[in-house]
Amino acid sequence: MSLLTPEQVREIDQKYLWHPYQPMHGAIPPYVVESAQGVYLQLGDGRRVIDGMASWWCMIHGYSHSRLNQALHDQIEKMAHVMFGGLTHEPAAGLAEKLVELTPRALQSVFLCDSGSVAVEVAIKMALQYWIALGKIGKSRLVTLRNGYHGDTFAAMAVCDPVNGMHHLFKDVLPQHFFVEAPTCRDDVDWESSQIEPLRQTLESHHREIAALILEPIVQGAGGMRFYCPEYLRQARALCDEYDVLMIADEIATGFGRTGRLFAVEHAGIAPDIMCLGKSLTGGYMTLAATLTTRRVSEAISNNPPGALMHGPTFMANPLACSVAGASIELLLSGDWQQRVAEIEGQLRDGLMGYADHPAVADVRVLGAIGVVELKEPLDMAATQEILLEQGVWLRPFGRLLYTMPPFITEAPEVAAICSAIGVVLDSID
Ligand code: PMP
Repeated sequence: MSLLTPEQVREIDQKYLWHPYQPMHGAIPPYVVESAQGVYLQLGDGRRVIDGMASWWCMIHGYSHSRLNQALHDQIEKMAHVMFGGLTHEPAAGLAEKLVELTPRALQSVFLCDSGSVAVEVAIKMALQYWIALGKIGKSRLVTLRNGYHGDTFAAMAVCDPVNGMHHLFKDVLPQHFFVEAPTCRDDVDWESSQIEPLRQTLESHHREIAALILEPIVQGAGGMRFYCPEYLRQARALCDEYDVLMIADEIATGFGRTGRLFAVEHAGIAPDIMCLGKSLTGGYMTLAATLTTRRVSEAISNNPPGALMHGPTFMANPLACSVAGASIELLLSGDWQQRVAEIEGQLRDGLMGYADHPAVADVRVLGAIGVVELKEPLDMAATQEILLEQGVWLRPFGRLLYTMPPFITEAPEVAAICSAIGVVLDSID
């Protein structure tokens, strides 16, 4: 097998490959990664840099972990893939059992699918089919929060923030849902009942049309990296019960420890009716997602025409992905992830909070292994990335946000390096 040099990779990439949210033949050519180990990326230009993004937040154990590698080696010797229609296998069963055990007790039915966006599609389908099954035909719309992000497929895109999402571009085909102001409370101490009023009013006026509330619990990720207080979730749960609306918790970004709890709903002690998991489900190794729901929802769908959830991806429950997900969960639970995330939280606070007074900075916030520096003006992404790489750190800023979500194995000096690289970026702003 002939291998390409980094220069050839870059050349061919520029010619043929389309990168996310980038034009073809973009002005910012991507950096070539040759390999990755622990928290480090080995770039084709010889630089070895700390991945402060954990590859879009999912590589919680770092790269090339021996236990995860072994799980994949073992599984590939048995079978790489098999269809899930009419067949089942140990990696899927083992994973489902773990997910049911770890998530809120009410969630007992697991649908495995390909990616976060698909998990959201499935969650929305579950909610719609549930009300159809009960004969409540009018309940076909969703309510969600502004500043949210739930994925790039059409149903998911329709519940992303209407301003910074793609609603304008696709307005003729996107279903119209209800958007309410996102909460601004940082913790329960600054809770005011006015925070929940927009949701209450929308549910009061429109609950007969609304199938479900969908939200990202505690952390709104790609829609703005905003944090909000648990009380909002408790009140939202109570309103969903009062108005007969299902609650979908999108834990794709927050699941598996990122916020300091295994799942962000635990901050509020609530159970959603449907929960979406993805990203770090496989320790970032492979694409896999899961949509979990209650027996009430799965039985209503199963016991009424058409008698099935109408979804079935070709690569559903891929055995390789399920086996590495099972191994990743075991690895997480067998270690001291809670202490590691708490330590990273402390290190991020120490390293970032001092930037709050910087003239270019609008806000600094830290929760769990998430550190966010919000600027007053948008950053030049290419120039910022190059400054960060010169400091030995990989981050991918967007808009006014410079943030880190490092692997949980990131050590104190590496967290400090990420924070000081952010400081160098701030000082480069005139
Ligand atoms: N929901 C949330 C909260 C996310 O953060 C993301 C990805 N950033 C998605 C859904 C979509 O997941 P994927 O990119 O795997 O389709």
